[in-house]
Amino acid sequence: MRRHREEHPDAEILSLGINDVTRPLAPAVCAAMSAAARDMQDAARFHGYGDVQGEPFLRKAIADYYRSLHVGIDPEDVFVSDGAKSDLANLCDLFAPESTALLPNPVYPVFYDTSVMAGRQILFARGTKENGFLPMPDESIRADLIYLCSPNNPTGAVYSRAQLRQWVEYARAHDACILYDAAYEAYIRSAALPRSIFEIAGAETCAVEINSFSKMAGFTGVRCSWVIVPRTLMHGTQSLHRLWMRRQATKYNGTSYIVQRGAAAALSPEGQRQVRRDVQYYMENADIIRNALRRSGVFTTGGEHAPYVWMECPYHLNSWECFGLLLSRYGIVSSPGVGFGAQGEGWLRFSSFGSRETVERAAHILSALDWDQLALWAVSRKR
Ligand code: PLP
Repeated sequence: MRRHREEHPDAEILSLGINDVTRPLAPAVCAAMSAAARDMQDAARFHGYGDVQGEPFLRKAIADYYRSLHVGIDPEDVFVSDGAKSDLANLCDLFAPESTALLPNPVYPVFYDTSVMAGRQILFARGTKENGFLPMPDESIRADLIYLCSPNNPTGAVYSRAQLRQWVEYARAHDACILYDAAYEAYIRSAALPRSIFEIAGAETCAVEINSFSKMAGFTGVRCSWVIVPRTLMHGTQSLHRLWMRRQATKYNGTSYIVQRGAAAALSPEGQRQVRRDVQYYMENADIIRNALRRSGVFTTGGEHAPYVWMECPYHLNSWECFGLLLSRYGIVSSPGVGFGAQGEGWLRFSSFGSRETVERAAHILSALDWDQLALWAVSRKR
């Protein structure tokens, strides 16, 4: 990418590789954060250290949000923090280093990197075109921790309730703990698909759920997330709720009051109306990208309930070859699938978080691609 910029300083770059949002914060969120900042200059309304678990007003707002999804969550089981990435890393503190982690492949690289840093033995559940990139339990495999990500980054695949039920049954049968990353839950457009693992009976005894305001409400630069750790969840003889409380109280001093006010505003009826418009905007981008790629004749999946479209590279091009072709010939940036695990080889991820203008310009090019010609060109370059 850097080399392309150096070699073609004037060439336009159309980035469909970004993992960050581009829409600004919702007015309701900014108004709440401004009011909270003003509170801080008044001695009577100043807030110092807060509740380490998260302010009760936000934990209640999160529980109410789950209620709107028909999921019963007690505010006592909600922990507010500063991002799903740090939560995923910090949750590693709760489990013995010798525990085994089962990770989907391909998947969000943080699952893998944090497991490696924690010294874990890692097993993979293979996502393939045949299983729709939704690997299912394998009775011959035993793991202490099971990471699931639905909707999935990078493939955009979403588990059904029946599939999640199988994972919950498997985890319960083998005393495993599921770490369920629901960071893209707000992008699910069908009531037929589960928005939370806690929609599944029994999950409250075997699962932790991680979610974030980053992609739901554009908080990538503000930083706020939550983890649901049910008090009914035991790992061996340990209550994970008590352990997580202890860990957070020891190593974390709570999320900024101003940020938590903004997060609560994002969950208010007006805030939800506003942030949902942005989610819809990104999903319209996903539709535009998906349709353009399909028009060019390639196979795609994802992008229907997730802001990521996952494309199979035609003519057995590998991820980097295909990435290089689109970048060098058209200035289009994607994400090579192999960067998300070996199972991503031969695939590209397209993100819908760009501006409509960028997405439309890229889609115009993508829909007219002649893959036969491109593949020939790639082969001639290799010689
Ligand atoms: N989980 C997944 C699957 C993600 O794709 C991301 C960010 O891209 C995160 C978690 C991290 O979110 P946060 O910004 O809350 O750290």
